[in-house]
Amino acid sequence: MPPTDRMLTGAIAANPGRYDGAGEYRYCRTCDAIFFTRAAQPDTKHDEHNVVALPALNQDGSDRLSRAFKVFIQRWSETRRDEIERFAQRRGWELAMEHADGGGALSDEEVAQWRQVIEAELKRLVAESRALLAD
Ligand SMILES: [Zn+2]
Repeated sequence: MPPTDRMLTGAIAANPGRYDGAGEYRYCRTCDAIFFTRAAQPDTKHDEHNVVALPALNQDGSDRLSRAFKVFIQRWSETRRDEIERFAQRRGWELAMEHADGGGALSDEEVAQWRQVIEAELKRLVAESRALLAD
């Protein structure tokens, strides 16, 4: 059975995208299954199979999400942007884009806006991976 959008979304959102590091989510066309593998602990079951790497929302070391967040906050007031930037200088961008309850810099409303951006990007990546799965 092909993976559901929910399964693909979960794998793409959590995908470190680094086989030689934290690991990588891949899809096996032979088994029709998502699996996780990494050089330090490879999943060898699919070695002889038709396998493709899944995309990553925020590949390890890429800072992709932080860069998207910096562009995203340009729509906010200069005062608010300055606050977020000062927060990020002290505690890092990864934390700045989290909700204040979780130690981040964002309010309910801001988190909701930022979630929409992430969800749209995940949706795009799921559609992209559907094409990969079918190849
Ligand atoms: Zn397989």
